[in-house]
Amino acid sequence: MNSISFTELGDKGNWIGGALLLPSKVEKLEVTTPYWGRAIATIPLSGRAELDGAVEAATAAWPEWRDTPVGDRTQIMFRFKALMERDYDQIAHLVALENGKTVPEAKGSIDRGIDVVEFATSFTNVLRGNVMNVSNGVSCEALYEPLGVVAGITPFNFPIMVPLWMIPIAITSGNCFILKPSEQTPLSALKIAELLTEAGLPDGVFSVVNGTRNSVEAITDHPNISAVAFVGSSKVAEIVYSQSTANTKRALCLGGAKNHLIVVPDAEEKMTVDGVISSSMGSAGQRCMAASVMVGVEEVQALIHSIVKASAQLKLGEDMGAVISATARERIIGMIDKAEEQGASIILDGRNPQVPNHYEGGYWLGPTIIDHASPEMTCAQEEIFGPVLTIVRTESLQEAMKIENGSPYGNAASVFTTSGAVSRYVSEHASAGMVGINIGVPVPRDPFSFGGWNQSKFGHGDITGTSGLSFWTNLRKVTTRWPAN
Ligand code: NAD
Repeated sequence: MNSISFTELGDKGNWIGGALLLPSKVEKLEVTTPYWGRAIATIPLSGRAELDGAVEAATAAWPEWRDTPVGDRTQIMFRFKALMERDYDQIAHLVALENGKTVPEAKGSIDRGIDVVEFATSFTNVLRGNVMNVSNGVSCEALYEPLGVVAGITPFNFPIMVPLWMIPIAITSGNCFILKPSEQTPLSALKIAELLTEAGLPDGVFSVVNGTRNSVEAITDHPNISAVAFVGSSKVAEIVYSQSTANTKRALCLGGAKNHLIVVPDAEEKMTVDGVISSSMGSAGQRCMAASVMVGVEEVQALIHSIVKASAQLKLGEDMGAVISATARERIIGMIDKAEEQGASIILDGRNPQVPNHYEGGYWLGPTIIDHASPEMTCAQEEIFGPVLTIVRTESLQEAMKIENGSPYGNAASVFTTSGAVSRYVSEHASAGMVGINIGVPVPRDPFSFGGWNQSKFGHGDITGTSGLSFWTNLRKVTTRWPAN
């Protein structure tokens, strides 16, 4: 079933000590579905007191969890994966309902989250450390040790996948984890909590504290939280990174993006059209990996024509979902208006789309393509985070790379070409952490790690794969000598 039905989920709380707690004295916030623009649930706007409760539960649970053999910890991940598969359709509906994605997009995001769970199930192998004789009768051992109580703060655009970039790796390596999900999409996080508990995770090892800025500041200030991972906009990533590290916490904060997709005339047509459209319009453009600027090198008019024709056929509510809020919708329309004012051409206009009848009241925008933009225009510089593709035309590959390199961000860059030389040139010169060759959304799969460069990331290392494991652990080195017989 790929259609969404309106569902009211009532008052939700925080997940602390293995149960849902409804704090009585804090203000509530409505969670709205982008499909209809109507409230589906409420969450508490937690502050220090609620966060303190989660840290206390986590601190109490940690000694036993730290000492639980890694084989027993991975068994919980095996069961968690089976439970996610059991409830796959229900989770996909929840993700779509709270975020506005289509059901197939929601399923794709669950699959990518399950990839990380699968990586964590391999930790009996990955966490075994290293040992070597370094001298006669002397051995050195390196062991991964958990940090203690750690936290993650996540954005609205992937309510299951982004929390799962962190939780399986942090927990299976022996930490107790507190999640502060986006206040716009907090419901999938509570489903993760229910399933982890059903999988046998001891109470206190995983908590969810709902809220906004106050709960984030309570995390970055808390003396018993050792590490903070953040995913969201660059502005907030920088704030969370500065506050966390000023309080001597380990921090890794992934931020926003402006990804470039370079298309040269020898590109294969179908691969290019599909790749450009899925990257720019998928998840209604609300992806940190979305290619929002296509740089066309030399004569690519025929390809642009095919991209516009195919984008115009995307059906709202079936091929493309809604954007997250009325505010986001207004902001995106404002950026399209500005592109027009600055002299670019709107060759596909989604500002007044035909809304599917049964989704009246939702936050809908149609696919939009802005052509003949100059690299200095706002639409080519700033993250739009909506279903908008900006096209900049250049006369050479070198000029195209200059534009890509000029962005302060550095999440992803892609090239569409059938030339090995062109692909090598782009992959060697792009100023981005993740490069795609004939792939519009070049997300690395575990154990390869996810992470950008420049203003798309504050802190060292990546969030998933073995790099994520390094973030959530300390390496203990033991050097041993015994008396000879
Ligand atoms: P956001 O920065 O507004 O919010 C992210 C989190 O920070 C939320 O949990 C929110 O409650 C909290 N927050 C918001 N304002 C805060 C403040 N002033 N102080 C402390 N905490 C605050 O981001 P969003 O709108 O939810 O998500 C979209 C952004 O996330 C885009 O910029 C997108 O590129 C980025 N993103 C990046 C990646 C990546 O891997 N680099 C992945 C997904 C999304």
